[in-house]
Amino acid sequence: MAKESVLLFIITVLIIIPITGFANKTIQTTQRIIVIDPGHGGAGNGLVTSGGIKEKTIVLKLAQKIAQKLETSYNVILTRTQDVAISSKERMFTANKNAGDFFLSLHLNHSKEPACFFYYFEPPEPFKQSIIAPKNTWKSQPLLYQSESRQAVSSFLSIFKAHKKTTYFFSKGAPIILLEGATMPAILIEPLSILALPHQPEDIEPILDELSALIAKSINFYFEKKQ
Ligand SMILES: [Zn+2]
Repeated sequence: MAKESVLLFIITVLIIIPITGFANKTIQTTQRIIVIDPGHGGAGNGLVTSGGIKEKTIVLKLAQKIAQKLETSYNVILTRTQDVAISSKERMFTANKNAGDFFLSLHLNHSKEPACFFYYFEPPEPFKQSIIAPKNTWKSQPLLYQSESRQAVSSFLSIFKAHKKTTYFFSKGAPIILLEGATMPAILIEPLSILALPHQPEDIEPILDELSALIAKSINFYFEKKQ
């Protein structure tokens, strides 16, 4: 921080603290970096309905809508902005290289219920001992962010539970390859069932609008609780 901004920061803190008590919420010298990872792409369609709706298309649209809602408060990076195939390592490389503060992998599920699933990385049992070995940095990194990732999941859960009525919710740690190697809190969500999507593309838009608002709200809630 330059001297002037330090001074400005101190003055602002002094002014705001007595009034609100939440100085951190109003002062951001640098924006947080959110990396959103729309699953699949290119030849990888993900789930496909009988009507030809593809998961890769829906999650990209959803990611773009979330980004629009977050971009005034955060730096938002998408791992893909087009219909291209990228490997899971490339996705995480983008996030790590950009020093993301939060990684959100987006997928759909195939549940008969309009279910929401939330996962964070948890190594499978046999690896739990070996990942402590310092040489295995790739596998040990996510462990540093286990509890924060779990907190992020619970923030999502709170917001989704508060705003939806009939949906089945589920959250757990699992050895999700797409979250492996994250040097930041990282979660994967499946906030929508592909079976719950209407056939007409124009009818899908409002569903994604509502969902993107909930996801943006969940991210805000997570960072508010961290402060
Ligand atoms: Zn998927």
